Amino acid sequence: MVPLPSVSPVAQASPVPAPEGDAGPAPALAPTAAKPTARKVTSLPLKVGMRGPLVRDMQRELRRRGRAIAVDGQYGSGTVRAVRALQKRFRMPATGTADARFLRRLGLQSLSVAGVSIPVQVTVSDVLPSWVRMDIWPTSGQVTSPFGVRWGRMHEGIDIASNAGPPVVAALAGTVSFAGWESGYGNLVKINHGNGLETRYGHLASIAVAKGQPVATGTQVGVMGSTGHSTGTHLHFEVRVGGTPFNPLGALPARGLSR
Ligand SMILES: [Zn+2]
Repeated sequence: MVPLPSVSPVAQASPVPAPEGDAGPAPALAPTAAKPTARKVTSLPLKVGMRGPLVRDMQRELRRRGRAIAVDGQYGSGTVRAVRALQKRFRMPATGTADARFLRRLGLQSLSVAGVSIPVQVTVSDVLPSWVRMDIWPTSGQVTSPFGVRWGRMHEGIDIASNAGPPVVAALAGTVSFAGWESGYGNLVKINHGNGLETRYGHLASIAVAKGQPVATGTQVGVMGSTGHSTGTHLHFEVRVGGTPFNPLGALPARGLSR
């Protein structure tokens, strides 16, 4: 849960849409009728017939995960099919309706503002390149803080916490490009995986590798800790391509929010 020095100029929290008349559940409209009469999103779950920036955020995340749908902010039949497909993959009931649990599983953080629960935009870039895949998770523990904008600040990775302070390992083979102290991150290891792909492992209690060292998937790079700008034992894990941070959950093997 660490604010990092760089703040993205691109990502901003989606505005809370103003309630529009009756804020009750949207009727199940036929897809053809959904567009002209679609209601603005004022509550979760997101469902067919709704529209707005929150639907767009979800569509963007669905596209990042390989679903060929329009990112138009309209929750139509194509969005329903994409949500159903992801729900099946996540082993959730394939309802086609996006509830808070589904949005969290997508990596979208839901917030409660003035009694209205909404997801916020999490992506700073477009589609995660399909070749960006981690072999394994970098440590054990629970994801305690997702990637994305929180209250106007950009969290450029995910936090994985475990009181046990487990080992932290390379999520993919590469070469250590940095091993030492960096402001905010505390003890930090960066690994260069080629093609501009880099992973970062922050707040380590100790570092087990040196700059220039080749590492294999699973090589220990350090121990989870709480160094730098941190309030508890956790790993701050980042995935960057060409310097741009992406949501690591899109690159990690699927196994839910914890293991
Ligand atoms: Zn963090």
